[in-house]
Amino acid sequence: MAEARPAKAVVIGGGIAGLSAANRLRELAIERRLPLAIELYESGERLGGALETVRRGEFVIETGADSILAEKPAALKLAERIGLGAEITGTDQRYRKTFVVRNGRLLEIPEGFSLLAPSRMGPVMRSPLFSPLGKLRIALEPWIPRRRGGGDESLAAFVRRRLGDETLTRVAQALAGGIYTADPELLSIAATLPRFVEMERKYGSVMRGLRAAARARDTAARGESGARWSLFVSFRAGVGRLVEALAARLADSIQMGRAVASILPDRESLERSRRWRLRFADGGETVADAVVIAAPAYAAARATGEAFPALSAKLALIEYASAAVVNLAYHTDDFPHAPAGFGFVAPAIERRKIIAGSFTSLKYPGRAPAGMLLVRAFIGGALNRELMALTDAEMVAAARDEFRDLLGVTAEPTLTLVRRWPNSMPQYAVGHLDRVAEIEKLTGQIPGLELAGAYLRGVGIPDCVASGERAAEAIAAFFVRNVSAGAAGDASR
Ligand SMILES: Cc1cc2nc3c(=O)[nH]c(=O)nc-3n(C[C@H](O)[C@H](O)[C@H](O)COP(=O)(O)OP(=O)(O)OC[C@H]3O[C@@H](n4cnc5c(N)ncnc54)[C@H](O)[C@@H]3O)c2cc1C
Repeated sequence: MAEARPAKAVVIGGGIAGLSAANRLRELAIERRLPLAIELYESGERLGGALETVRRGEFVIETGADSILAEKPAALKLAERIGLGAEITGTDQRYRKTFVVRNGRLLEIPEGFSLLAPSRMGPVMRSPLFSPLGKLRIALEPWIPRRRGGGDESLAAFVRRRLGDETLTRVAQALAGGIYTADPELLSIAATLPRFVEMERKYGSVMRGLRAAARARDTAARGESGARWSLFVSFRAGVGRLVEALAARLADSIQMGRAVASILPDRESLERSRRWRLRFADGGETVADAVVIAAPAYAAARATGEAFPALSAKLALIEYASAAVVNLAYHTDDFPHAPAGFGFVAPAIERRKIIAGSFTSLKYPGRAPAGMLLVRAFIGGALNRELMALTDAEMVAAARDEFRDLLGVTAEPTLTLVRRWPNSMPQYAVGHLDRVAEIEKLTGQIPGLELAGAYLRGVGIPDCVASGERAAEAIAAFFVRNVSAGAAGDASR
C-alpha cells in the first residue's frame, strides 16, 4: 500500500456525524498506514449542525443540543481521544429534578419515573401529577398482559396499553415524545425506546423491568465505587467544544460553503475501478474513491436521486420536524421563587406556547455570571408546527409569557437569543427500523458509499458519533479490500 497514490474519501456534512466520520477516517489512516486523503464538505458557513455554543461575556449559551447521555459511550470516548477528557463536566446533582406542567403549575416528576413509567408506586401515589383513577391505572400495569404478536407500535399505543391515557397525556408525550419533538401517535416505540419493549417481553411489565434495571445499576455501582458521571454530561465551555476540537484536528480537510448536489458513479473510471463524481450546488465537481453521506435524509435523498433512485426514495420517506430554542438571561432575584431543577416539560394537553423550559445555568455550573440565571425555552416540534411561523420577537414574547405564567418572572431579560432549527429532527415513525434496514440493504449493495447521521439508529449525540465512526470503519475496510490494489496498479490517474 505504501507505493499507492492516496485514495480519497469524502464526507458530506459537517454535523457531529460527519465530523466523527472524518476524524475516525483520519485515525484509521494513521493506525493502519493507509495513504488516505480526507475531504469534508459542509454546505453552511458553520460546523457542528445541531451543536452550537455561543459565548457572550461570561455566558455559555447552548443554542441547540446541550447534553450528552453518558451511558452511551461513543461521544465520551471520542472526547477523551481528542484531548477533551479533562473538560467533561457533569450536571449539578443538587438540581437533579424535572418538573411537568399540570393545570398551569410546575409539579415534580415522581422519584423513580423513567420517561414513560415509574419503577415504584409510592412516589406516584403521593404525587399530585395524576388523578386517583390515573394512579389506579398505573398500579395495574404489572397485571396487564404482554402484547400478543410482534411488530412495531406507536409510543402512544404502548403507553396507553400498559399505563393508561393519563400517563401518556400528562407525562410520556412531553418527556419521551419531547426528546424527538414528535407526535407520540406516530413515533415508533421500537426505534426510540426499545428497552421498554424488551422489559415488557422479558418481565411482562415495564415497572418490574425498571426495578430490575435499578437493582442491576445499584449492584454495578457498589462494585465500581459509584458511577463515574451523571446521566448527562457536557464540557465546561459547552458542547461546542466537541465541534471545535474536531474542527481543529481536521482543519486541512474541511471545505465550508460547499453543498453537494449529486453523487454519481464516475463512468469513465468505473470499468477500471469504482470512483465517484460529486457535483456541488455551485457547479463545481470533484472525484472520490469513497463517500460518507452525513447530511440529513432529505439531502442524502436529493444527492442520490439520479444514480440510486430506489435508495433515494426510501431516504425521502423520513420526515423531519422543526424547533426553535430561545435563550433568556435574568437576574436570579427576578424569580420570586428560585427554581430548583434542570427544567420542565409542558404536555400538549396544557396548550402552552413552549414545549419545555430548562434552567441551563443550574443544570451545568459555570454557564452564567454570579447572580444571573440562564434559561431556555423550546418552541415548535411536530405537535406545534404553526408556532415556527412566529417572528424572533414573537418567540421571545412567547417564552417570556410562559416564564411569567409558570414562574412569576415579569422582569425584562438582560439577554435574548433565538435560534431556529428548521427540519432538524428526524421523525422515527412506526416501522422506522424496517425502513432503515431497507436503506442499509440498498447502501450495502453500493461499494464505497456509506450513510451516517441522526435519521438512522439514534438521534442523540452519542448515536450520531457512533454512526459516523461506523461509516468510517466501513470505508477503511473497503479501502483495504479494494482500492489499494486498484490504485497501486493504476498509474494513469
Ligand atoms: C434544538 C435541538 C436540541 C437537541 N438537544 C440534544 C441534546 O441535548 N442531546 C443530544 O444528544 N441530542 C440533542 N439533539 C439531537 C442531536 O443534536 C442531533 O440529532 C445531531 O446533532 C445531528 O447530527 P448530524 O450530524 O446527524 O446532523 P446535523 O447536525 O443536521 O448535521 C448535518 C450537516 O450536514 C450539512 N449539510 C446538509 N446538506 C448538505 C449538503 N448537500 N452538502 C454538504 N453539507 C450538507 C448541514 O449544513 C449540517 O451541518 C438536539 C437537536 C436539536 C435540533
